[in-house]
Amino acid sequence: MLNSDEAFRQVMTWCQALQPAERSIEEALGAILAEDVLADQDLPPFDKALVDGYALNSEEAGLGLRDFQVTQTIRAGRFPTIGLEPGQTARIMTGAPLPMGADSVVMWEQVETIPTEQIRLPFDRHIKAGQNVLPRGREIASGEVILPKLLRLNGAAIGVLGSVGRTRVRIVPQPRIRIVPTGDELVEIDQQPGPAQIRNSNAYVLRSLIEQAGGLPEVLPIAKDDPQSLAESLSAGLYSDILIVTGGVSAGEADLVPDTLASLGVEPVFHKIRLKPGKPLWFGVRHSAEELGQKPIRKVLVFGLPGNPVSVVVNFLLFVKPAILALRGISTEPVAHRTVTLADAVENRDERPSYIPARLSRRHDRMAAEPVSWAGSNDLRGAALADGFILVPGGPCRLAAGSNVSFLPLLP
Ligand code: AMP
Ligand code: MG
Repeated sequence: MLNSDEAFRQVMTWCQALQPAERSIEEALGAILAEDVLADQDLPPFDKALVDGYALNSEEAGLGLRDFQVTQTIRAGRFPTIGLEPGQTARIMTGAPLPMGADSVVMWEQVETIPTEQIRLPFDRHIKAGQNVLPRGREIASGEVILPKLLRLNGAAIGVLGSVGRTRVRIVPQPRIRIVPTGDELVEIDQQPGPAQIRNSNAYVLRSLIEQAGGLPEVLPIAKDDPQSLAESLSAGLYSDILIVTGGVSAGEADLVPDTLASLGVEPVFHKIRLKPGKPLWFGVRHSAEELGQKPIRKVLVFGLPGNPVSVVVNFLLFVKPAILALRGISTEPVAHRTVTLADAVENRDERPSYIPARLSRRHDRMAAEPVSWAGSNDLRGAALADGFILVPGGPCRLAAGSNVSFLPLLP
């Protein structure tokens, strides 16, 4: 049986960044930029005052002139049409364009105002050319690359796109992910379950985790454990970049998912890994047209997750989330585990490495993980009360309180 590192590597060999596509900048936060973005004009577009004060010609002050006539007031948003003559100055506000003839701004606190509409510079004040002025094009010149290809767009970068007038931009798009819950025992969450039925909570676990990882989830109706119903649902699920099926991948009589996927042309890559919870994980690929030399169909990664809700969470974090990030062009790395201190001793009697839900708290200068009480991989509530999972090596293994452990966070 594969261990989870090997399984991760096998998943990654099938993950390539999606083809770039154009999106509105409102949809681009967190995405990888797929083009060089150029400035459409100089920024700032004019010589700009950085303080409230008086715009003047520093050379005149350098030659000894101290008194200036105030001939105009320039506010931000107005372009001055009249320049300065020798001996003149303009009252100017922060962000306003300098008038012709001025090369510097003196802060208003630093001059004396004298009657009428005149200012006087203190005899010892030196005025430097360019002081308190941001020259045109200092941030970026028209035509220069303002944001480079492959940059991951943060909030400031979305603002920069807006500042150069871009409403749309080429990015690596978000993968579309379809979810097919399977199981004869399932009912939708707004139904009253019968005596042998349970509500379809997995769909909601997955929808949330997919959104958090930057994918676009779409939940399909519950599929029954019969070959016909399953084949219809799974083939609808293949209209996606990633198909996630839950349930039906163990070794039971009703576990028809692997065979049904195979009948739809999905090639199995692996089935079952050394991991608790999450052992029955199934992974396969439906190849693209180029790979098969056939009619145009897109490549689909298919994850068959066991139905147990906590297995769903652990398998998602370890395998599906990295696949989403890889399709988005962001990372092909395994999920980062943190190192934390164990608050209570834990034991793993299973030979498989085990993930145990735990809560984090600050103890002295370190984060300590305390296992929450839970009833195993069916117990979603245990995970709901946890910050993530402690990884306990394959057993029999006992970790003492105070030892360092790897911790898989549930929230990013
Ligand atoms: P399976 O992998 O199909 O054998 O299911 C394992 C366990 O997970 C069973 O107890 C199922 O009832 C439960 N289960 C399966 N699918 C879901 C689902 N969509 N939501 C909640 N629990 C589920
Ligand atoms: Mg089932």
